[in-house]
Amino acid sequence: MDGVTGLDTHTLGIIGLAVGIAIALSFSLTSVVLRGMAALYVWAAAFWLLTGAGLAQGYDENGSFLSVIVGSALIALANAAMLVGIAMHLGQPLRLRWPVIVIGVFLAIQVAFLLWPPSQVVETMVFGLKSILWDSWMVYLLLVRAPRELRMGSLFTATVFIIDIFFYLSRGFISLHPEIESPELASLLTTSNYLFGILCTFLLSTGFTLLLSQRLVHDLRQAAEVDGLTGLLNRTALINAALPILHANRGHTHAVLLFDLDHFKAINDRWGHAGGDAVLKHFTRTLREGRLPARALVSRYGGEEFMILVPCTSANVAAALAESLRALVERSPAAYGGDEIRFTTSVGVATGENAHLQRLIDTADDALYQAKRAGRDRVAVMVSGEEAAPAEGDAPEAAGLAM
Ligand code: GH3
Ligand code: MG
Ligand code: MG
Repeated sequence: MDGVTGLDTHTLGIIGLAVGIAIALSFSLTSVVLRGMAALYVWAAAFWLLTGAGLAQGYDENGSFLSVIVGSALIALANAAMLVGIAMHLGQPLRLRWPVIVIGVFLAIQVAFLLWPPSQVVETMVFGLKSILWDSWMVYLLLVRAPRELRMGSLFTATVFIIDIFFYLSRGFISLHPEIESPELASLLTTSNYLFGILCTFLLSTGFTLLLSQRLVHDLRQAAEVDGLTGLLNRTALINAALPILHANRGHTHAVLLFDLDHFKAINDRWGHAGGDAVLKHFTRTLREGRLPARALVSRYGGEEFMILVPCTSANVAAALAESLRALVERSPAAYGGDEIRFTTSVGVATGENAHLQRLIDTADDALYQAKRAGRDRVAVMVSGEEAAPAEGDAPEAAGLAM
């Protein structure tokens, strides 16, 4: 039958097949490159299943028993694969029992309809309902369960499924109102069914690609910026985060607190590297308990050295914070293998106005050295000597550290 667009269903079927194969192939090839992205394998499978369903249904346009059953089973599996892929990608474990039950129920209904054909309205309603159920399930996961870092991909993909829901709702509405049926409308519906299917498959592949890219970018950023042991920012990430803050708050006093755990080698020697690691994690938790100002940036500066940048503070407040953290560490031993590991930290504090970040850090390092020399487990405070520093600290680029 020629659609009002002038495209017959045969041509549309072939276009759909070509688009399906292209998308399934690109997902399969991408999954070879991005090994380890489990959802990508599942989505590649979903697109192959959808393409297979198109083939099975197009193979026999009159809808023989076998082609209808095989086609429906493949579509159901494709829907389930998309759902499972989304759940995996969002880190939301899904019990497979439910998708399997939905597939089973609708395949049973499909067989019943072939044996005892229902009216056109009932058939349209039941299959519309099935599609709406899958779509809503995925919309729920994408809108309610997606982590923040995947928001854009989730919103886009959910929108595609919501458009699909409206498509099936309008089909249901039309079939409930036979008075608006006409040969032109029937022809338009058939054509739009195909075109809409092709468009949706394409948009879904775009949505999944967005979700994959966002996950990749987030994971790479995490790996580059976050210390694996403590979950704190690493040195580079702290500096990158600090520069714009200092730049935006020129004229204020800022403070750098540099911590170095005392006699840490001795802890490693006695409890082994794992014991030392436990102390480092415990120290991080202790810092978090230490009522830091919300604007403070905390980082693992290296080995057993940690740095806190407190923007817009005063020398007194910074020194008091350092002292309270030092005391908190002193009275908070780490638990390890049934032992209590008591440890202490020395703290070097540097404060400065309009300070160049590297100079602040260097001054904090000098103060830390003083604290160590004076016997450890104490705080030493120094004022960064460059309050009258030239404007080089003004621009973030100029303040950049050569490390
Ligand atoms: P001081 O009081 O002078 O600071 O003495 P110290 O023994 O702490 O000396 P130093 O700061 O030079 O020692 C750092 C040690 O920290 C050396 C290194 O083996 C250990 N270390 C660095 N990174 C890690 C880590 O990720 N895990 C463990 N367990 N140890 C680490
Ligand atoms: Mg050290
Ligand atoms: Mg040390």
